[in-house]
Amino acid sequence: MDEIDLSQFIDKNHKSLLMVLDLIPIPAFIKDTQGNYLSCNTSFENVSGFTRQQLLEMSADELWGKSQAEIFLAKDKELFDNPGLQIYESKFTNLEGVEYILQFHKTTFTNSEKEVSGLLGVIFDLTKIKQLEQSLFKLSQIDELTQILNRRAGLDQMEKVLKDSARKNKVFSIVLIDIDHFKKLNDTYGHSAGDLVLKTVAEDLTTLLRETDIFFRYGGEEFVICMPETSLSKMKGITERLLTKIDSKNILTPNGDSLHITLSMGLAVFPKHGNNLEQLIEASDQAMYVAKNSGRNCIRVA
Ligand code: GH3
Ligand code: MG
Ligand code: MG
Repeated sequence: MDEIDLSQFIDKNHKSLLMVLDLIPIPAFIKDTQGNYLSCNTSFENVSGFTRQQLLEMSADELWGKSQAEIFLAKDKELFDNPGLQIYESKFTNLEGVEYILQFHKTTFTNSEKEVSGLLGVIFDLTKIKQLEQSLFKLSQIDELTQILNRRAGLDQMEKVLKDSARKNKVFSIVLIDIDHFKKLNDTYGHSAGDLVLKTVAEDLTTLLRETDIFFRYGGEEFVICMPETSLSKMKGITERLLTKIDSKNILTPNGDSLHITLSMGLAVFPKHGNNLEQLIEASDQAMYVAKNSGRNCIRVA
């Protein structure tokens, strides 16, 4: 098939071309090499809020605002310097300040002298998909009951701390926390009282931690805290405060019961007690069982 001179084709067949473009429910536009709009489809009109006529008559600055116009023109220039196909994602802020994430697919076309004479572009609005992706990712990281990180997300983050610490030759400490006699609490006061205790412990411990600490629900009534760049002695001081905080409070249930709980904790430090997560958690688990056998409500080191 002969190569079509798209410039001429667009000039001669503008109406037919628009019929096709208008049918496509995706914003599409045509620009010349100066960045001026030559045409657009109905979807573009609807999304941009400008009519075809306005688009042809107004400058990029007037249409999109100065800073956004600069971004568009820079990308157009990049394409005209390297003619062909250009696909990229970009933030777009409209004149009301609303932000979108857009994906642009643009291609250059040539005239009868085979000179690049303009571009054709379509826009995919990825804003909702990206927002959904983000909220699904967040949801997949959070334990539904306690609203802290879940086991998988916690272990993933700890793996990063481990790699970072190994690379920088730094220590980090972890503690495995287990609620004492939790089964009995469930049996005596009911499962929902147990749930309330789990939520309260997660909340209380969170308030005593720093942004950089990783705190997650490891299992049923077990939690793990990982503190980057924290020595064992410093970790002992912090965990003692956690222990005291929980021991010194009563949790009131909607039934009017006042619950008192205690924690058993096992500490381990990288790299002394292990150079991978499995070894470190195993070491803190064993230390936690020593705490259980020592009468509970106490902390033991691996
Ligand atoms: P110990 O002092 O030796 O740790 O005794 P324990 O009773 O705490 O330990 P055990 O492992 O025997 O019991 C843990 C209980 O935690 C059993 C399980 O029913 C309860 N549990 C696990 N997940 C949940 C939960 O999401 N909600 C509630 N309410 N209970 C849970
Ligand atoms: Mg347990
Ligand atoms: Mg327990």
